[in-house]
Amino acid sequence: MDPRVEEFMAQITAKNPGEGEFHQAVQEVAESLIPYIEENPKYKHAKILERIAEPERVVMFRVPWLDDKGEIQINKGYRIEMNSAIGPYKGGLRFHPTVNLSILKFLAFEQVFKNSLTTLPMGGGKGGSDFDPKGKSDNEVMRFCQSFMTELYRHIGPNTDVPAGDIGVGGREIGYLFGQYKRLKNEFTGVLTGKGIQYGGSLIRPEATGFGATYFAQEMLEAEGDGIKGKKVAISGSGNVAQFATQKVNEMGGKVITLSDSGGFIHDPNGIDQEKLEYVMELKNIKRGRIKEYAEKYGVEYHEGKRPWSVTCDIALPCATQNEINEDEAKTLIKNGCRVVSEGANMPSTPEAIEVFLNNKILFGPGKAANAGGVSVSGLEMTQNSMRLPWNRDEVDKQLQQIMKNIHHTCQKYGKEGDYINYVKGANIGGFVKVAEAMLAQGAV
Ligand code: NDP
Repeated sequence: MDPRVEEFMAQITAKNPGEGEFHQAVQEVAESLIPYIEENPKYKHAKILERIAEPERVVMFRVPWLDDKGEIQINKGYRIEMNSAIGPYKGGLRFHPTVNLSILKFLAFEQVFKNSLTTLPMGGGKGGSDFDPKGKSDNEVMRFCQSFMTELYRHIGPNTDVPAGDIGVGGREIGYLFGQYKRLKNEFTGVLTGKGIQYGGSLIRPEATGFGATYFAQEMLEAEGDGIKGKKVAISGSGNVAQFATQKVNEMGGKVITLSDSGGFIHDPNGIDQEKLEYVMELKNIKRGRIKEYAEKYGVEYHEGKRPWSVTCDIALPCATQNEINEDEAKTLIKNGCRVVSEGANMPSTPEAIEVFLNNKILFGPGKAANAGGVSVSGLEMTQNSMRLPWNRDEVDKQLQQIMKNIHHTCQKYGKEGDYINYVKGANIGGFVKVAEAMLAQGAV
């Protein structure tokens, strides 16, 4: 490791002990940025990177709620307000039993760079709870969301901090959270994004992350005179991002051959077409069932407890969770001919896996760039809420495509290494510059 990165990371580790995911996210950025900062000493003197790695504010709170048996349950609630140099804090809420401070700080840190890359005026934040919506009734989820918002409402606002969804937080949860905020504040504002279309949501917001990750893969391929058409695509996850990535790949003429959940993956060599995707959407979003049921319905293979990276594919779209592609899996993907990885999830590739991708010079789109479509349309939802005017589907999709093109262009600009585009470096530096300049202009705050 570069000794300057080592020295920087020693400080981060000492100040944030035991936060492995946070260290991992900071180190990946520091490796790209420290050489760049050395060439631009104004950022070094103002300690911009050191400041970006320290949240502006962390809120932690108790979330008590009554389950259907009348028993009290207690969860932890969090909101990390990471950086507001270029706009109000913006980033999702995650409800998953694995949620802790380290995971939310890594996500909030990534969000700062991602939001900057979108070119929209949004700072970075993230929050959530160790609450597990799986197996809970709608009423339990509602009571939990109401209790969560009863504390969170005092820390957020349309000009302060605007949360959205993430793992375990979809349209249902956003609805309950919004309802409680409105009741507490007696205000109808765009305080959350990912809202239902009837009460201030944006068209294309549910689709945006999955569509965006697919557009980004297409941009990377087009830069080499190729495209998604005719390609075999392995996708992990079967939630919001995975579903709409599948839809867009199909629309662009590719074939999706895998989907997964935390139980295992299904392999459908004939392709998950629109009809099968509708079955998955009903299974996951309404019945809240397991992906295994797909294998039973369509008579395809189900691999219990496995991830899809052993399957031969041209493109991999990891759309489930962090650290879901390790070094061996990265090597297997490449051995089997995979040439493109576009990260729909946040930090799905381990540092060792990223090294394999970069050493093999494949087209690797890191999450900060590739999955920025979701927060981009959230930004567009904020604009529509401020104007009190909804845009049509076509208008939003056009803007999303343009933003993904711009992000790709920024990555090319800052990530060029001879003939190769190092999109990791491009996204890190490209995301950094705007935030750093804003922080310089605002003084030591
Ligand atoms: P969902 O909750 O809709 O879906 C998550 C999917 O990933 C499910 O299939 C889930 O399986 C699977 N999964 C979750 N945790 C694990 C795990 N520990 N191991 C294996 N599988 C797991 O979430 P989203 O689709 O919204 O989010 C997916 C990823 O995309 C996350 O990394 C998120 O941060 C990122 N992202 C999401 C954005 C958005 O707009 N929603 C924006 C940008 C990034 P199971 O049902 O079994 O839990």
